[in-house]
Amino acid sequence: MEESVMPIYSFNGLKNLLRIKGFRVDKAQAYRPLEVENVDLNSPRCNLEITNDGFFVIDPVDGEKRQVFLYMQNYDIEKYNDYPRFHICNCSTLQMYSRGSYRRANTARVKVKNRSDGREVWVDSLKLCQNCASKMFNAPKTTADFERVMRQAAASSERNDYKRGELDIRGYTKDWSKVSEAYRNLKQFKCEQCGVQITNPFDQCFIQVHHISGDKTDNREQNLKCLCVECHSQIDERHKKNFSTKANLLVLDDFRKKYRGQQGLF
Ligand SMILES: [Zn+2]
Ligand SMILES: [Zn+2]
Ligand SMILES: [Zn+2]
Repeated sequence: MEESVMPIYSFNGLKNLLRIKGFRVDKAQAYRPLEVENVDLNSPRCNLEITNDGFFVIDPVDGEKRQVFLYMQNYDIEKYNDYPRFHICNCSTLQMYSRGSYRRANTARVKVKNRSDGREVWVDSLKLCQNCASKMFNAPKTTADFERVMRQAAASSERNDYKRGELDIRGYTKDWSKVSEAYRNLKQFKCEQCGVQITNPFDQCFIQVHHISGDKTDNREQNLKCLCVECHSQIDERHKKNFSTKANLLVLDDFRKKYRGQQGLF
């Protein structure tokens, strides 16, 4: 179908509409956590792309390709007194065990199914399969590392995009990330406008630091304000415009779903 006649309600239609309205929609994706799902590697309908760089799925929510890791669908926690290792590539251990029954995820905290009683156990962070570790150079060592790397990759491609166009226009000082981190810690990751507080370390990017006067080189405490992404995006017309990029809309959407109990737009 020709892109210009795509219906708006399809994801590509929406993308096209945003592009027409001048939003940059071809940027690298912001990291978005996925629901854990079972995958059967032996099934021809398995919705998983296996490449030399790892495992990828098409996110059913926004149609974007996201990297995931795999771990065993069932695991004998008592017998091994451990949790399953996670795999980031098609290693021989992965091929040998579990008859292809795995779970795919991209978040540090995952559910593991105990084989003997079918109980689901929440695990904060799995360890990487040693076979995968030796196969992949510089591999993350825990699922928490994996999640961090995914977020960093998304963030750095964002920055590269800015470099091509508007990094200087943003005008932040070199020590800004340190200042911002320190100020957010001071305010305990609580929005000074609506009061929402983010305790989950993986979600603390939802709390941002705003320059009250608009002068981004004035990092004095009285010029700073901790705001959640939603309050920040609405603070004035300039911010409303800045927050209308697709990557930012996805972050906003993620925030609303998690902390406002709203249905997503994408
Ligand atoms: Zn492995
Ligand atoms: Zn807020
Ligand atoms: Zn601001």
